[in-house]
Amino acid sequence: MSITHAYCVELDQEITIDEARRAYRSLPQPAPRFHFLCTSPDCRRKGVVITGVNYTFNAEDSPKHREAHYADRNSLESHASTCEWRILAEPIRGVATEDPARPHQHDIRRKLTDLVTHFDPFGPPDPVAPGIAEPHPARIRNPAAHRGPQPAGHKLNIRTETRDLERLVHTYREARERLSPDELENYYLNVKGIGSVRLVDYFRHLSRADECSSNTVIYGGSRLRHRYGAGFKMRFFDKIRDLPVDLYVSPALMDSYPHRRYLEGILNDIPSRRYVTAYVIGLLRIAPSGASFNLDITHLHHLALVLGPTLEQTETLE
Ligand SMILES: [Zn+2]
Repeated sequence: MSITHAYCVELDQEITIDEARRAYRSLPQPAPRFHFLCTSPDCRRKGVVITGVNYTFNAEDSPKHREAHYADRNSLESHASTCEWRILAEPIRGVATEDPARPHQHDIRRKLTDLVTHFDPFGPPDPVAPGIAEPHPARIRNPAAHRGPQPAGHKLNIRTETRDLERLVHTYREARERLSPDELENYYLNVKGIGSVRLVDYFRHLSRADECSSNTVIYGGSRLRHRYGAGFKMRFFDKIRDLPVDLYVSPALMDSYPHRRYLEGILNDIPSRRYVTAYVIGLLRIAPSGASFNLDITHLHHLALVLGPTLEQTETLE
């Protein structure tokens, strides 16, 4: 596993790459890139730079697209001896933390750029970056010289716990791409309200979902169907009992979302894509007309959208 959290100089916060993307894409575009340092207080003092890769783009499924991640281009020794990432990477510690009840954990960690082991779907979203609209210009000029307040002691175990659906979806997509079938089968997620489930079982394709599907991530390919002011409606490609399935987001829900500009950016991109995959924590209900299903959500942090290939890319493939 590489580094999953970095200290963002402009936001003055430790964030995941998914949080970096939401914060960055919530700024008026084009925005200057963020600067990142290692989370360890000693590394920050030394100015150990971490590189944020691909967070300036929206998430997408396409053959050439690399997932957003943090890249650590420093040698292990460049990190302070107290650095949590250095400690995690040192082999002797790795052996000591191997859990015999959970084989493959090392390979899973090694192959993924991020790792989620605990997910709380119904808590409020992870508190991130209240001041995202105003990155600090002085820090941007000389990030390594920043000597802001140092965070209190770190606990490694909180790093793999999240309420962020986009982060979980990122991990899920990467796990499906990079892990062997055996490793994928052995990747367990602890979900609040359910307990331990296999990661792959926590995600359910829309074609296998119904009104009883709750506390699961329902996903499927979809298209943008209408805009209603700030609100929108999406329609899934797959049907349930021969009825179409829609996801409607009201203008009021959109207005209350702190990352509205980020979401607008994705919505504006959908027409140039072959499809968009929607990952949703919501409830399926038959519409009052009886002619369709609605997949209802109560918060926009229960929706993660991943753009499909562009129409041009599709033509090239064909
Ligand atoms: Zn470090």
